[in-house]
Amino acid sequence: MRGKNEELCKRCKRPSCLHPKLCPNMNNDHTPLLDLYSKIREVKGIKRAFIGSGIRYDLFDSSPYFETVVKHHTSGRLKVAPEHTEDRVLNLMRKPSFTMFEELNRKFQHICRREELKYQLIPYFISSHPGCREEDMQALARKVLGKLHFTLEQVQDLTPTPMTISSVIFYTCENPYTVESVYVARTQEDKRRQKSYFFGGTLPTDSRQAQQSKRDNVTNKRDERSDRSKRTLNRKRY
Ligand code: SF4
Repeated sequence: MRGKNEELCKRCKRPSCLHPKLCPNMNNDHTPLLDLYSKIREVKGIKRAFIGSGIRYDLFDSSPYFETVVKHHTSGRLKVAPEHTEDRVLNLMRKPSFTMFEELNRKFQHICRREELKYQLIPYFISSHPGCREEDMQALARKVLGKLHFTLEQVQDLTPTPMTISSVIFYTCENPYTVESVYVARTQEDKRRQKSYFFGGTLPTDSRQAQQSKRDNVTNKRDERSDRSKRTLNRKRY
């Protein structure tokens, strides 16, 4: 996909063709893609061709693209990446509002019910992205856990990767476009606390320390038992 008028693109200074809104010069016509899928379905010897992930639902046009993917090109689990639920974080990611994902989810469930397909939509979320505070993770957990009809299993803590705006903000704690300061969760403790919201919340530090010391005690006792049995064995040998 590309700009309709490429001369305009050459002079363009927008950092994204999709965010905050799809550029009117963007040619998001899905017809060639649908034609290709249709040709693939005709190829003899190929039973099914699956699309597992990578769908950009903020790029959809009015064609039946999504319906075609669900009906003909889903193996049972379709992964999509809303990444977060909070606009403050999504804006820094240059991702669309979570309501767009909720709409996609509704459509997915509707198609599955109508076609009697037992498929799952697997959303992908990320914690500790620059700009994401603990209260944003609390809000995410409130909106997602036990609320929507999907399995939450694709979750990840941010790993800064080269050549991304997220990494620039991660290292500088600054939005390079607005020069505004951005909060970044950096310590292991902050990152662990954020990630724990995917699994129902976080434990107070005291409880975590108590649990760790319980684990350490178990390990120490096991080591002591092992040492004792080694000493007994050595005595028997001599
Ligand atoms: S934002 Fe629009 S004009 Fe700019 S490069 Fe993308 S499609 Fe072209």
